Amino acid sequence: MNNSNKQRADIETPVYGSQKMRTSAPTEKIPMQPTAPEIAYQMVKDETFPQTQPRLNLATFVTTYMDDYATKLMNESIDVNYIDETEYPRVAVMAARCVNIMANLWNSPEQAQWKAGALAIGSSEACMLGGVAAWLRWRAKRKAQGKPYDKPNFVISTGFQVVWEKFGQLWQIEMRTVPLSLEKTTLDPKDALAMCDENTICIVPIQGVTWTGLNDDVEALDKALDEYNAKTGYDIPIHVDAATGGYILPFLEPEKKWDFRLKWVLSISTSGHKFGLVYPGLGWVVWKDKKYLPDEMAFSVNYLGANITQVGLNFSRPAAQILGQYYQFIRLGFEGYKEVQTNSMEIARYAHEQIGKMKPFVNYSNDVVNPLFIWYMKPEYAKTAKWTLYDLQAALQQSGWMVPAYTLPEKLDNYVVMRIVFRQGMSRDMTDMLLTDMQNAINEFEKLEYPTQTRIAQDKNQKVVGKVFTHTHVKTAKK
Ligand SMILES: *Cc1c(COP(=O)(O)O)cnc(C)c1O
Repeated sequence: MNNSNKQRADIETPVYGSQKMRTSAPTEKIPMQPTAPEIAYQMVKDETFPQTQPRLNLATFVTTYMDDYATKLMNESIDVNYIDETEYPRVAVMAARCVNIMANLWNSPEQAQWKAGALAIGSSEACMLGGVAAWLRWRAKRKAQGKPYDKPNFVISTGFQVVWEKFGQLWQIEMRTVPLSLEKTTLDPKDALAMCDENTICIVPIQGVTWTGLNDDVEALDKALDEYNAKTGYDIPIHVDAATGGYILPFLEPEKKWDFRLKWVLSISTSGHKFGLVYPGLGWVVWKDKKYLPDEMAFSVNYLGANITQVGLNFSRPAAQILGQYYQFIRLGFEGYKEVQTNSMEIARYAHEQIGKMKPFVNYSNDVVNPLFIWYMKPEYAKTAKWTLYDLQAALQQSGWMVPAYTLPEKLDNYVVMRIVFRQGMSRDMTDMLLTDMQNAINEFEKLEYPTQTRIAQDKNQKVVGKVFTHTHVKTAKK
């Protein structure tokens, strides 16, 4: 048998009896010969086999559980390209309905049948679109006034998600950051306004700050901004990055004003694949009114009598997430979403309380306003502890849990914290298992005679700021 025939014979051999299974997988060149589908499937599947189970990944905000019908619907539409609207007009209409639903959840005042908004691959694209629209509006106004428009900036707290750094870099818009501190754990409106000038295209408060889980006070910012705009004659608007909060606040705190009910909030973005309960990637951005969506960004298309506005950075993209989102809206309804988000919050609050009671720990904040929170080691405990949160992360990983330890952004970067995001799919029972694993790991750490490697490294770089030890080497490695 020549080599080719030998490989072909694999088709008849058991998967793990095949020649392929004792040959290394391709890393540089495409293999010359085909492989039987069962064997190819197993090889690819096995590549990912030792990874964390997605539902045990408590680091992510992104959906890791959908029911069987949602999964079936999404799998059945895996071959549909969203951008082929002529061929799949119903998908375009469905996306526009989802935009309407989001706009109304955020109390849009827009009267038009189809609200001004866009589908995105996630909050990143949605934030970009919101940011670009603010920049183009500012630029048009500056042009009309005969003023220079070459030095735009935007203002955000140091708790920004990395997409805003990308936005600044890619569009060359200066990012001005308001420092967070233990006294000011969210964006301070006064500090934000102190950074504004005639070149400020927008201020970006965050609902569900990725680092801490907290919400910036948009209502207070709006009020302060209203006075500021009246005084200066600028029209600085607000774009709310509601990646998490966009699907939490409407269901759990409908009275709280953070959305289009506020005067200067002209656009809001969110991640459909976070608490929108859809598998990745899906995001939404909505403008308060069509007039805030610059013409240069929007293309109007008429399908099935529906005049649909199209906006986006991508061209081709999967349609499955749109079907998944529309399914979730119908399947769960307002009450269903509320129940799911309530459970995530309740379980998060329960874990927050339990972790707060553990001897080594202190919670960063007393409130849990989104289903996630962070905690750190008590300074007194940290002084003599022979271990660090990085050791706890590694210990929990042995039971499959991914609970990340990291340092907070600048000014707070002496704080090593741990975070858990509670999503649909994390029950009270699983939380109890996790808490038990945590306590067991702590008990083992407390028996240590000698410090761990990360503790030794920490002591080497030791500097005491705010009485908490730094972890400089890890910080450097991350950057
Ligand atoms: C997750 C997140 C983003 C980025 O969202 P993707 O959906 O992952 O692209 C932006 N801003 C905040 C506040 C986030 O939490």
